[in-house]
Amino acid sequence: MIHKEIIKHPTLSSPQDRFALPDSSGCFGPYGGSYVPETLYHPLSELNDAYVEAKKDPDFQQELSRLLKEFAGRPTELYFAERLTKELGGAKIYLKREDLLHTGAHKINNALGQALLAKRMGKKRIIAETGAGQHGIATASVCAKFGMDCKIYMGAEDMRRQALNVFRMRLSGAEVHGVEAGSKTLKEAINEAMRDWVTNVRSTHYILGSALGAHPYPGMVRDFHRVISEETKRQFLEMEGRLPDEMIACVGGGSNAIGFFFDFLEDLDVRLIGVEAGGRSLDEGEHAARFEGGKLGVLQGCKTWILQNAEGQINPTHSVSAGLDYAAIGPEHAYYRDLGRIEFAHAGDKDALDAFRKLSCVEGILPALETSHGLAHAFKRAAQMTPDQTVCVNLSGRGDKDAMEAARVMGVTGLPEMPLP
Ligand SMILES: *Cc1c(COP(=O)(O)O)cnc(C)c1O
Repeated sequence: MIHKEIIKHPTLSSPQDRFALPDSSGCFGPYGGSYVPETLYHPLSELNDAYVEAKKDPDFQQELSRLLKEFAGRPTELYFAERLTKELGGAKIYLKREDLLHTGAHKINNALGQALLAKRMGKKRIIAETGAGQHGIATASVCAKFGMDCKIYMGAEDMRRQALNVFRMRLSGAEVHGVEAGSKTLKEAINEAMRDWVTNVRSTHYILGSALGAHPYPGMVRDFHRVISEETKRQFLEMEGRLPDEMIACVGGGSNAIGFFFDFLEDLDVRLIGVEAGGRSLDEGEHAARFEGGKLGVLQGCKTWILQNAEGQINPTHSVSAGLDYAAIGPEHAYYRDLGRIEFAHAGDKDALDAFRKLSCVEGILPALETSHGLAHAFKRAAQMTPDQTVCVNLSGRGDKDAMEAARVMGVTGLPEMPLP
């Protein structure tokens, strides 16, 4: 339930205040900040200065809007899932179709914004990390469009699991660098990208892929995804004549969720729910639900909720969806959770796979496995609500990339093995 006392909370009492976050030191209350070695301090403050300027420059905003429309395919539709609503027998279900964007997910909003900023800063080389590959693909695509050099860091284990995505990045001209350290997944890829950035900062911009990391990334990435909530609000009012009762999004680092929620933060009658990956179980190492078993700590520049052991070492995580499989959550989510404004739930691998199949067969829309976590919770909620109520889900990405993995997990045999490029 929404805690009504937050109406009186000083930071949410006036409409402008959500725009005042992060504060000048990059904090969202006790979270966020800039916990980096000295060598990264200068590039981060240079980036912050450039972003502050770009943000208030109408030419920059206009150019970004044009790119979002012409290259990425905005605005995306708000879709009433009629058959699904009928089948679940409760609240009306709406889907914000970020899956229809170019390269298949919301990630292109941020990749375009940051690439345009890099161009403005005179940087001709782009680096990025990627886990599942969605952010790598969005970045590689944008770099091809802008004629920029592009190097993507990816854990060697993730490269093996996402061979097709590696090939897609290479087709767009990106160099994909496999990282062999540690668990050979996203965390190590971020470390390696940061090392590259420190060494090549004069020529290079680092496009971080979620509302995470050191200041200014969490606030900047959120800003580039805010367009999702601006459109959703306008479209929902047009279609329903009022705001949704509940809004639900999956949460990895938290970029699609904060972009989807941001313009509704002051609409206290709209319940906002983020859904984390419950994995196989809530036992240590079996999930990526930071609010279930995580605690306050610092990871990769940012103070937030983290899955870690008693010594502060990062715990391994698991999710059927690579995009939710990260030990830390974006600081802004931790802040709004403390205020009771954004609530959090979790959905496990099995529930997500069920939701993946359900949306595919009832509506003919294949959702990403990440998105399927949000859907799983939304289906549960909708069934408990009444037909005069509404639930709006952010359909953060499409599931084409997950079809092979879904087939494997469902035990479907006979599909060709995906060849490594
Ligand atoms: C990357 C990804 C996510 C998770 O990242 P957030 O920053 O939490 O949005 C969710 N859905 C899809 C489709 C993704 O590609």
